[in-house]
Amino acid sequence: MDFPRGRAGCKEELRPPSCPFCGGPQWWDGWRLVKRQGTLSLSGGLRWALGLYRRRARCFNLVCDCRSSTIYEAQGYPHRWFTTAVIVSAVAELLAIDGATLASVAKHWECHPRTLGRWMAWISCLVEVAVLFKACWLHDPSGMPPPVYKPRRKDLDSSRPEMGSWKARAVLVGSLVLLFAWLARLHRDKGIPLEEGPGLGAILRRQFDLYRLVSLLTKSSPGMQIDVLWTGG
Ligand SMILES: [Zn+2]
Repeated sequence: MDFPRGRAGCKEELRPPSCPFCGGPQWWDGWRLVKRQGTLSLSGGLRWALGLYRRRARCFNLVCDCRSSTIYEAQGYPHRWFTTAVIVSAVAELLAIDGATLASVAKHWECHPRTLGRWMAWISCLVEVAVLFKACWLHDPSGMPPPVYKPRRKDLDSSRPEMGSWKARAVLVGSLVLLFAWLARLHRDKGIPLEEGPGLGAILRRQFDLYRLVSLLTKSSPGMQIDVLWTGG
């Protein structure tokens, strides 16, 4: 979603959300152009959104560390060309389709194979499966065991040894994606507001909104805050 351009800071506009650092009031502080962003279309394919503008806000509090911050739309995430919905869709395709390779899936999603490989590595390091599994199981009122991903790609059962390590990574990444989706559903069932879209993106976005922690692709991600995994009481 992009915002129409207008006179930032004019009186008629609604106030920006409160300051992410001190919780105080803010005023509008201009715009930031996002040249292009890969988003998920309604049909589930890739759609390039061009020339998005994101609004910026500045805190009233002169002693607050927050000088000026960007306000991200749903599924917008800092330092990303592709939304988390695209990332999850591409990774799911790689994990589920027989014969899919980094190159073939990357071509479909118009990214570099190395980027797709980074998405896999990034997801695998976000949080330990056991920690996420426990959070899901503890807080699910149904008592249902949370899901574990079982790869169905027949080519992963080949005798080639490299396929064994690939399968282990597929189980890890697939399980994390499923568990994030499970946990996001528990949050939504409890009425805890999360952005729309895949659970992984929604939980990461919640962590960003609460702590301004960003999980970058090219550096190790900050540890997941336990109270982000569950805050539903
Ligand atoms: Zn502030």
